[in-house]
Amino acid sequence: MKPDARGYFGAFGGRFVPEVLAYALDELERAVAEAFEDGRFWSEYRELLATYVGRPAPLYRARRFETGGVPLVVKREDLNHTGSHKINNTLGQAMLAQRMGKRRVIAETGAGQHGVAAATVGAKFGFPVDVYMGARDVERQAPNVALMRLLGATVHSVSSGTQTLKDATNEAFRVWAAEVEESLSFIGSVVGAHPYPYMVREFQRVIGDEAREQCAREYGRLPSDVVACVGGGSNAIGIFTAFLDSGGVRLWGVEAAGEGIESGRTAASLGAGSIGVLHGSRSYVLQSAEGQVLETHSISAGLDYPGVGPEHAYLKESGRVSYVSVRDGEALESFFDFARAEGIVPALESAHALAFARSISRERGGGDLVLVNLSGRGDKDLAHVGRLSS
Ligand SMILES: *Cc1c(COP(=O)(O)O)cnc(C)c1O
Repeated sequence: MKPDARGYFGAFGGRFVPEVLAYALDELERAVAEAFEDGRFWSEYRELLATYVGRPAPLYRARRFETGGVPLVVKREDLNHTGSHKINNTLGQAMLAQRMGKRRVIAETGAGQHGVAAATVGAKFGFPVDVYMGARDVERQAPNVALMRLLGATVHSVSSGTQTLKDATNEAFRVWAAEVEESLSFIGSVVGAHPYPYMVREFQRVIGDEAREQCAREYGRLPSDVVACVGGGSNAIGIFTAFLDSGGVRLWGVEAAGEGIESGRTAASLGAGSIGVLHGSRSYVLQSAEGQVLETHSISAGLDYPGVGPEHAYLKESGRVSYVSVRDGEALESFFDFARAEGIVPALESAHALAFARSISRERGGGDLVLVNLSGRGDKDLAHVGRLSS
């Protein structure tokens, strides 16, 4: 579905920003509307997805990881250039920036995956890229910082607040407000003020559009279940969108429980949060009773965010998608199991989806088929996992 004219999915979304940014968002909204109506925009996008990103991403049946009798099939976003689904989005935003005559790009990043994808397309399109990253993340994600610099981006370390993604996002917005004329801010998930959640979804829906066709062609049916991890929610909405109108397909969004929803050390915004405003839109937020945004915890940096995209809040309330959560330990177990059973190292984020998918595939039978979005590869997680297991 399209958000309404004010950018709402039901009661969620909208635009809660200062005046200067409202002007920039209006401009972006007009550019998005024009580009999305332009067949040449989409044909150029599709060609770059094929030649630059390496799409379509195949479906692969994980026969040795499966436990029940039903196929567990993964969508291989890990094979994309730069190793995750994030490039589908930054490529589209770079094409928009070019169309809008912008000369610079601003990006926020947590783990660095979106920063790397933004720096990559910045190099390809010839834009200077300024990446804002919390000081703690700059330290924790040193290989990605080196990669962004190699690609020509400038990485700014943000030392306010908790020195993580939430603070980097605030800083990126502040900088954008000062240079809206010449810059476009790239957002890495289906979060932020309208039109970002809608725009980013349209760039990620290729995942589900491809997967639906591949399931029909290769397995002769639709999946019984579609499973994806949810940080901000872009890979999940990307694979869900093609199946929303097929009532028989169960959709599962898997959040990071961290050490457990009850422990307080969690990143499950839909499971443990309440309705509030964060980074420009109304959705579920992990916050105190006074509305103070809480510090989050997850073993996976890409899921460690106190908010979630407004369309997910809407899909939760409508009941069309079920949101569940998986703990650090369960995700880590699936990370190792999947690597050793299939010879594919999944991202720790994706390992949350794999853990849940394996648990439900035990209860399935007949002609069921469980489809999982393998949102990225796990090379980036090796140092972190090594520290945990030594
Ligand atoms: C960033 C990231 C995520 C989380 O972001 P979403 O917007 O929720 O998709 C998940 N998996 C990987 C591999 C990532 O890099």
